[in-house]
Amino acid sequence: MFDVIVAGGSYAGMAAALQLVRARRKVLVVDAGRRRNRFAKASHGLLGQDGRSPDAIHADAKAQLSNYPDLSWREGRVAAAEREGDGFAVRLDDGAVVQAWRLILATGVSDRLPDVPGLAERWGDTVASCPYCHGYEFGRGRLGVLAAGELSLHHALLVPEWASSTVLFTNGMLDLTGQQREQLAARNVTVEAAAVTEVFGDKASVRLRDGRTVALDGLFVATRIEQDPLVAKLGCATSEGPMGPVIQTDEVKMTTVPGVFACGDAARMMASLSLAIGDGALAGIGAHRSLVFDGIA
Ligand SMILES: Cc1cc2nc3c(=O)[nH]c(=O)nc-3n(C[C@H](O)[C@H](O)[C@H](O)COP(=O)(O)OP(=O)(O)OC[C@H]3O[C@@H](n4cnc5c(N)ncnc54)[C@H](O)[C@@H]3O)c2cc1C
Repeated sequence: MFDVIVAGGSYAGMAAALQLVRARRKVLVVDAGRRRNRFAKASHGLLGQDGRSPDAIHADAKAQLSNYPDLSWREGRVAAAEREGDGFAVRLDDGAVVQAWRLILATGVSDRLPDVPGLAERWGDTVASCPYCHGYEFGRGRLGVLAAGELSLHHALLVPEWASSTVLFTNGMLDLTGQQREQLAARNVTVEAAAVTEVFGDKASVRLRDGRTVALDGLFVATRIEQDPLVAKLGCATSEGPMGPVIQTDEVKMTTVPGVFACGDAARMMASLSLAIGDGALAGIGAHRSLVFDGIA
């Protein structure tokens, strides 16, 4: 019997596990190994780790965590979990069943990109979603925003902070009002209504349906996010955010299912390593306190 099983062994999950093993609690981390930023060569904006590769940050954190004797780690996926008495029976994708008093979901989210040729190949390099993570590296060049929904207006108003000039490609996804066009013009954003047929070139130039091309130094696009199926199987309530569903939690990261906590991108709309790590620490402490104050173990 573990005290806590953490589904997802990336930034949020490891931060949660660290608090728990330092309180000498038995923790199993199960990780499917598909971190959201696995497409990027470098990670930016995390204090003390700025510019390092995501793999190196993860490897260092995992090595430090593995020094604690109460930590167990399994590669794989949590396939299902059911309440069993005061705890949970957790089924892994290799068929093993393990028990814990508490569960932490640090399962992240999956990104669905718009179906435009050339976009996926550049994802995490010259195509990105977060200007705080990648905007600086585009060197104040000419930047684009490919509309994917209402959120893209907000994106287009923000991106000029990192650009010499900005082009918003509405691509049939945004119907702008006169007032929104004025807001964009005031931010030096040009609006391009012709459909985007391809992203090409060394950076992220855009080809339009009418044959014109627009040279860019970087392109931002909002993705559609999806939760791991485990979230629905457990019955955790989600809220519909502008990019997709986000797990609802209270101030100590407990979900609507008692004993199940959630942290990181799965449980917040704004995504970054710093925020996922902070959230993970909070979920770890929340789970620990619930063990102590609910008199479980
Ligand atoms: C291309 C790109 C670049 C980025 N660059 C930056 C950057 O430079 N700086 C920055 O701060 N942020 C960046 N981000 C955001 C950052 O990647 C996320 O905020 C961060 O990864 C969230 O951490 P997490 O632990 O919540 O989830 P993730 O890192 O996504 O990890 C979730 C883990 O859970 C595993 N998992 C899922 N379901 C299960 C299951 N059922 N059982 C077991 N394991 C499971 C997954 O395989 C994965 O290993 C970037 C994002 C993208 C898409």
